[in-house]
Order: sequence, then structure tokens, then C-alpha cells
Amino acid sequence: MDSVLLVRYGEIGLKGKNRPQFEQALVRRIRRALAAWPGVAVYRTPGRVWVEPPPGTDPEPLLESLQRVFGIVAVAPAERVDLHLEAIAAAAARALEAALAARGGAGGVGTGGAPTFKVEARRSNKRFPLTSLDLNRELGSRLLAARPELKVDVQRPQITVHVEVRHDGAYVYARSVPGPGGLPVGVTGRACALLSGGIDSPVAVWMAMKRGLVPICVHFHSPPFTSERAREKVVDLTRVLARWGGPLPLWVVHFTEVQRAIQLECPPELTITLMRRMMFRLAERIAARERALALVTGESLGQVASQTLESIRTISAVATLPVLRPLIGMDKAEIVERARAIGTYDTSVLPYEDCCTLFVPAHPATRPRPEQAEQAEAVRDWEPLLAEALERSERLVVEPAQGP
Ligand code: ATP
Ligand code: MG
Repeated sequence: MDSVLLVRYGEIGLKGKNRPQFEQALVRRIRRALAAWPGVAVYRTPGRVWVEPPPGTDPEPLLESLQRVFGIVAVAPAERVDLHLEAIAAAAARALEAALAARGGAGGVGTGGAPTFKVEARRSNKRFPLTSLDLNRELGSRLLAARPELKVDVQRPQITVHVEVRHDGAYVYARSVPGPGGLPVGVTGRACALLSGGIDSPVAVWMAMKRGLVPICVHFHSPPFTSERAREKVVDLTRVLARWGGPLPLWVVHFTEVQRAIQLECPPELTITLMRRMMFRLAERIAARERALALVTGESLGQVASQTLESIRTISAVATLPVLRPLIGMDKAEIVERARAIGTYDTSVLPYEDCCTLFVPAHPATRPRPEQAEQAEAVRDWEPLLAEALERSERLVVEPAQGP
């Protein structure tokens, strides 16, 4: 028996004349996600993408990888059989049995009633003698004959046995694994994403990727005040994020001298505000080189002193690009839950400090005004320091972490 993975996508089906471009991007992302398996064919038919591994391949690890491809709404492992009613009926029975087993047997798990099902046939091959309705009826009654304890429910069935009749065979499936949704990485453009070693910004980067952005990750480190381990931690976080559509570029910006100047020459209560403004300025310069059209941060509202609305205004006053803040409306608990789900949490909570945790003043200004920041910055010419910070930056290309 041949197994094939049928990929369904939602939103990207709606994009009018951009649609082929979105579908091609999805196919490219799927090919990349499955690059470790040689001989997998990925192709499109109207409204569908198909993944065909070589015969005998265990589909489970492929399914697992596809669950990290943005744009995918669901993947169904389907069986392809010849265009004969008997073969289709046998496959439908196998699909139903597998779905029942996944639910914990014909009685369902503690639900009391027998599970309900329906058959949903789709016939793109009009030469096949039975219509979709014929198939629904014929297969439905055969399945019911084999499993008289089940009930048919065409409105809200618990199990749907799908049959797609195409020219090269019939595809039968009842199990479907959810994908992450969103849009294929790359279809909406590029943005510079400020990635600290904390819990929040990796989640923000992930959410930007989910909406189709390629994140150009930018991390600011201040050796020797911040350790090599803190830098490694950010590389590790980027590796995890790259599993969702990498490899990803990571700029590690040498922030030491800028940081030191702020520390020595500016009022301590403005340290955080001024550091962030400098980060935004540097990120914009990187954005220009990387053809990125926005910045992304892990800021949320009201979490800490630097995330009051006044702070956010004063910090982003230096930006000319739009600043996207995917976490703006999320609670900390929701962010933590997402970080766990995407695999960044365990790395984020490792203790290595970054420059922002190290240099927190005792009494940061919670409502810094832009004029205060400008005045504080007027003590020196920052241009040479910013230029040097960029000069001493490194640009890495981070490959996805391996493993489950
Ligand atoms: P996170 O958990 O992402 O570190 P946070 O709750 O600690 O966020 P802040 O310290 O106010 O919040 O940082 C706000 C945002 O500024 C971060 O989400 C990140 O986008 C950016 N940022 C802070 N420090 C750095 C850094 N060293 N390198 C790159 N970006 C940074
Ligand atoms: Mg932080």
C-alpha cells in the first residue's frame, strides 16, 4: 500500500492572484523541512499539496516535521489505492479502524455513545463511474455493515472518512494532524528581530515567522561584561527558531563601547531607555543592509519599567521603520506557554545574563520623555561608537537544531 501525505492550507488559498506564489513558497518550505529524507516528492494540485515519500517510509517523523511548516493547516496521511470500488472500500474500512483505534476503540473514550462518522467523497476524475454522492452512500453503508454499532452523522461527525478520486488513484484518509497555520516564511518579507536571551523575544520572533516574515535576528552583547555562554545561548535559541523555517541570519552586535558610554556619561535612571534607543538605531542600520522593512521586538505592555507606554514611545521615537510587537496583548503566562510549545523556554531560562539584566539601574525612569532622552544623548557624538559597534559585529547563518 502506498502512503501519501495530503497537506491542507487555509488562508493562503484565499490570496487571489498571489495564490500561485504562496503555494510555491509553501512547497519550497515543505521541501526544505523534509530535506533529510531523500526521494520525497512534493507537488501541487488545485487547492492541495501532496508529499509522497518513497514506498516503505514511516510517515510519522515526516508528519512531525510538517507540523513546523507555517502555512499548513492540517496534514492527513492518506492511502492511495487503485480506482476500483472494492479497493476503495477496503481502504475506507482501514482508515475508519485506524481512526477508531486512535480514539480508544469503537466505544470511544468515556463518552458513552458510539462514535459517529460520515464518508466524504470528492471526485476530480469524472470518468470514475460513481459520483461523490454514490460513493458516500455506498461506502457509508458498507462501513456500517462492518461496524453496526456506529452511527452516521452527516452534520457533525466525530470521524470523517475522506475519499478523493483522482486520475492516478483514489486517496483515502480519516486521520488528520494539525499544522501551525500562518503563512509560509518569506511571503510577507523581511524584518530585523531584536533577540535577547530572555523568554519573550524568541516567542516574538516565532510569531513574526508565523505571519510569513523572515526574521533577521539581531543580538546585542557586551563582552567582557556578558559572557560567551550568554552569546551561545542566543545562538541556541536561534537554532530552535530555525527549525520553524530556517536557516536564519543572526547578527551579534558588539555593544560594549556604546553601553559603557551610556553608563559613564548619562543619567543612570535613563540607562535602559538609552540602551534601547541605541539598539533600535543599530538594528535599523542592519535592516538597511538586509533589505528588512520593519523591526520586531518582544515588548509587551506593562510588564516592566521599560514597557510602559511612555517608555515604548520614547524608545521607538528613534525608529523610522515600523516596530512590530507581536506580544503586545499577551499575558506573561501565555508567553511562557507558547515558549514551551515552540521549544525555546528551556534555553531561555538558563541563567546567563545579557546586557540588559546586568546594567539595570536601581531606579529606572518609568515615564521617560523623548526630550529627556535627547538631552541625555546630547553629551557626545554617538556616530563613531555606533559605526564601531557595527564594524565589530558578526553575521552568522544559523542552521536548525536537529532532533524531535
Ligand atoms: P525578553 O524576555 O525578550 O528579554 P524582557 O521581558 O526582558 O524581554 P526587555 O528587557 O524590556 O523585556 O526587552 C524588550 C525587548 O528588547 C526584548 O524583547 C528584545 O526584543 C529587545 N532586547 C532587549 N535586550 C536585547 C539584547 N541584548 N539583544 C537584542 N535585543 C534585546
Ligand atoms: Mg530580557
